[in-house]
Amino acid sequence: MLDLLIIGAGPAGLSAAEAAQQHGLDYLVIERGTIANTIRQYPVGRTMFSTPNEVAMHEGTLNPVREKPTREEMLSHYIHFVLNLDLHINTDEEVIAVNGNIEEGFVIKTDRSEYQAARVLFAIGAMEIPRRLNVPGEDLPKVHHLFIEPYAYVRKDALVVGGGNSAAEAALFLSEEGARTTMAIWREDWENRDPKAGAMKHWVRTPLETEIEAGRLKVILYKHVDEIREREVKLTTETGEVLTLPNDVVFVLVGSDADLTLLKNLGVKTEAGKLAEIPVYDPETFETNVRGIYVAGHFTHARHIKAAIDVPRRIVPLIAKEIQPQKGTRGT
Ligand SMILES: Cc1cc2nc3c(=O)[nH]c(=O)nc-3n(C[C@H](O)[C@H](O)[C@H](O)COP(=O)(O)OP(=O)(O)OC[C@H]3O[C@@H](n4cnc5c(N)ncnc54)[C@H](O)[C@@H]3O)c2cc1C
Repeated sequence: MLDLLIIGAGPAGLSAAEAAQQHGLDYLVIERGTIANTIRQYPVGRTMFSTPNEVAMHEGTLNPVREKPTREEMLSHYIHFVLNLDLHINTDEEVIAVNGNIEEGFVIKTDRSEYQAARVLFAIGAMEIPRRLNVPGEDLPKVHHLFIEPYAYVRKDALVVGGGNSAAEAALFLSEEGARTTMAIWREDWENRDPKAGAMKHWVRTPLETEIEAGRLKVILYKHVDEIREREVKLTTETGEVLTLPNDVVFVLVGSDADLTLLKNLGVKTEAGKLAEIPVYDPETFETNVRGIYVAGHFTHARHIKAAIDVPRRIVPLIAKEIQPQKGTRGT
């Protein structure tokens, strides 16, 4: 019986693992992909929005070449954090079911094995289910819901659909690297200048506008995409005009959601958050309404990396305090 099983090896899961190690808990992290899998799926070479003090596991341990770290510097930082502390992580293993209760312990079933744990911390991020347009042709192989690199699309007709920073960055990278790029965006997103409401960061918007002025990038204020075909895309503009654009590749970057199925199957309640559905939890302990089941990171209200790192440092000691007296009496 493990003391704590942590699902997910992103910044939240790694921080929880370190705290568990420091408090002498028997713990294990199960990760379906690689260490910091979400960050590995950022665009190649991407510079973070955050400064090192907001994303480093410990102050002064992430020293990027420029002011802000790149995807590659972040990945190396998190990987070496795991290696240096020799944290217990199983990668390439997916948790597929969690059952049980706090009295008898939880049973965690993965695609490889089965574990028992006194407590379970879900640090599963909010990237599992990319949002879709739900239009004909969206399942064609040329349609992607993730953007990793622009280099395959030089002199190709690329369409990026979406209004947030991920879509804007993808359009910028594609345009800068020679793809004939069109960005389809809703007017409210294009005109949004409020950073608190998810507006494009100015250091993305400024070069994007340079691409537009130079005639390399086209922006269409659209209402909806009607259909994606092998060689073209049909969409309706905000004025009701129907356009058929030549097209080789589509990136649908309209956000993503956490997969809350495992939590819901356990009986964890959820509520509507500002941006997505969020599990209900105690804001002090991050324990859900199901005793012994905890949450941390991107799919809670503490969304950014800094909070994803800080929260486990607060809650794992509380878990340890609860478990350790019980452990002390085991076998006596
Ligand atoms: C393109 C992009 C740019 C971003 N830029 C910034 C930025 O500049 N600054 C910032 O603060 N934030 C940024 N974010 C958000 C940031 O990535 C998240 O805040 C951060 O990753 C949260 O860490 P986490 O540990 O909660 O979740 P994640 O890093 O998403 O980790 C969750 C992990 O859980 C694993 N997992 C999920 N389900 C299972 C399962 N059933 N079994 C096993 N493993 C599972 C996933 O594979 C994943 O590795 C950005 C996000 C994106 C997409």
